[in-house]
Amino acid sequence: MTFYQSNDMARLGCGDCRGCSACCRGMGQSIVLDPYDMFWLQKATGETFAGLMQEKIELHVENGIILPSLKMQPGTDACGFLTKEGRCAIHGYRPGLCRCFPLGRNYDESGLTYFLLEDACRIQNRTKLKIKKWLEVPALARYERFLVMWHGFRKGLMERIADSSSDEYAQRVNVKLLELMFQKPYDVNDDFYVQFEERMEAISALIC
Ligand code: SF4
Ligand code: SF4
Repeated sequence: MTFYQSNDMARLGCGDCRGCSACCRGMGQSIVLDPYDMFWLQKATGETFAGLMQEKIELHVENGIILPSLKMQPGTDACGFLTKEGRCAIHGYRPGLCRCFPLGRNYDESGLTYFLLEDACRIQNRTKLKIKKWLEVPALARYERFLVMWHGFRKGLMERIADSSSDEYAQRVNVKLLELMFQKPYDVNDDFYVQFEERMEAISALIC
């Protein structure tokens, strides 16, 4: 498998999806959200976490950690942000996993790299594009640092929950995680990363 960095080129160009919306349908709970996604969803919709939970997102459990994910809608099995015309209603604010597709993320000692999810995109003969252009994330270096930190934090929590075998600890961790990283509204006009670091300090003091 080839691992890429954001300055590398990869076969990603799908001609603006050419009317395809396959990766916005039937995704189950796989489009898991992180705090950066929550910041942008709040900015795009003006909704709080509770408002988004009414219809657009749901809770997903993975290795003892509860996190929000995009909700496929009953009846259509499509994301709630997919329009009737098959376009993303929040394109500029879409979650990180949507931006990546058909790239996957790989985390190791050297940090974050990307790989192509072979045969995941319906369009064949895709053109080569620079990954950073595909992702369209402002201040990409800061974003990638955040992703590495968030990944490490989640992994550590999962390990601690598995080691503790205490339901009370797992419940306390999840309540604080949801509260501080997702439910507490972000100031969408202020810098996300500063707010995230403050929340990380607060949550680390409470649950570590
Ligand atoms: S947020 Fe947009 S890009 Fe992501 S699954 Fe929903 S409609 Fe598709
Ligand atoms: S499967 Fe490929 S072409 Fe279809 S919507 Fe997803 S990224 Fe676009």
